[in-house]
Amino acid sequence: MIPTKAYAAHSATDPLAPWTFERRAPGPHDVQIRIRYCGVCHSDLHTVRGEWGDIAYPQVPGHEIIGEVVARGAAVGKYKVGDMVGVGCLVDSCRTCASCNDGLEQYCEGGFTGTYGGVEKETGRPTQGGYSDAIVVDERFVVRIPDGLDPAAAAPLLCAGITTYSPLREWKAGPGKRVGVVGLGGLGHMAVKLARAMGAEVVLFTTSPDKAEDARRLGATDVVLSKDEAEMARVANTLDLILDTVSAPHDLGPLMNTLRRDGTLVLLGGNVVPHDVPPAMVFVFSRKRLAGSLIGGLPETQEMLDFCAEHGIVSDIELIAAKDINTAYERMLKSDVKYRFVIDIATIGA
Ligand code: NAP
Ligand code: ZN
Ligand code: ZN
Repeated sequence: MIPTKAYAAHSATDPLAPWTFERRAPGPHDVQIRIRYCGVCHSDLHTVRGEWGDIAYPQVPGHEIIGEVVARGAAVGKYKVGDMVGVGCLVDSCRTCASCNDGLEQYCEGGFTGTYGGVEKETGRPTQGGYSDAIVVDERFVVRIPDGLDPAAAAPLLCAGITTYSPLREWKAGPGKRVGVVGLGGLGHMAVKLARAMGAEVVLFTTSPDKAEDARRLGATDVVLSKDEAEMARVANTLDLILDTVSAPHDLGPLMNTLRRDGTLVLLGGNVVPHDVPPAMVFVFSRKRLAGSLIGGLPETQEMLDFCAEHGIVSDIELIAAKDINTAYERMLKSDVKYRFVIDIATIGA
């Protein structure tokens, strides 16, 4: 067993606090990773506060994990001790369904095993995430961090990066396409960078006027204040694709109006309050679509990391000590994050 230091939620309302537990010893196909950095995703907050349903406590969140391989099982072929690797939102799946066979493990028909909040098949115990100094994962669910990517700033690519890269590819963002991004947080700022690197024009929708300058620096060609009707009217009927990263309830009608014929609004945010869907005619008269997308599979996650290395893309981060995680959550709720908190795991036992 591997003794592991962590920060865990002990209830839906208490602040996260230090906790120790044991990881399984690596099996033949497992790598053991010394975690160096872990990004802080809004999904961590939704989960530990019970917004997505009841969970088991203590719960260690964190699914934007980067670290180095310190041990490996006898059958591991892809990674060796010392390799810099990443783990995202998935640590297992059924491996046999149509989605798994297509490398789309996030849509596993048997249900994937989440990096936290799932049940570890090997032990029957709850999976625990990356706000911790060690993790043991089957090599199939591990990706390689290309040389040249700063490991702290690359950590958010494992969720925020792949969650935005995958729909940009699926809906063919590229030259000649106009892509809207709603919300400039962790996901949103990656969406802006990635869509721009793919050659698309990017329009950022925000509720925070003070983020306009940053949005342009990150690659947006236009910034629209989404609560201002005149601003929204200015971009009516101009967009091919919108990635909506908003974490809270909001109105979809004004966003649908900014799509042109055949445009698609892709919901990425995890708010659980049902959306008020616009009337059928909004869709009927211009063949518009409302869609959703979940993170990305393992092959596409590796493709995204290689794309980021080629284009020099990482996340804009604020590196924090583990003890500051609760303050980071409160700031995230106020949209006050520029643009992803990353925990320096070396501080976890301090
Ligand atoms: P985040 O950093 O907190 O960013 C969310 C952004 O949404 C905020 O920065 C803010 O941007 C905007 N926003 C917040 N409240 C709003 C409101 N009431 N009305 C309009 N805009 C609002 O969160 P994140 O980590 O990027 O995650 C975003 C959401 O995606 C979360 O719900 C998360 O659970 C979900 N998620 C989904 C997937 C997936 O696979 N689909 C993966 C990861 C995360 P402005 O200040 O610019 O308005
Ligand atoms: Zn996430
Ligand atoms: Zn499957």
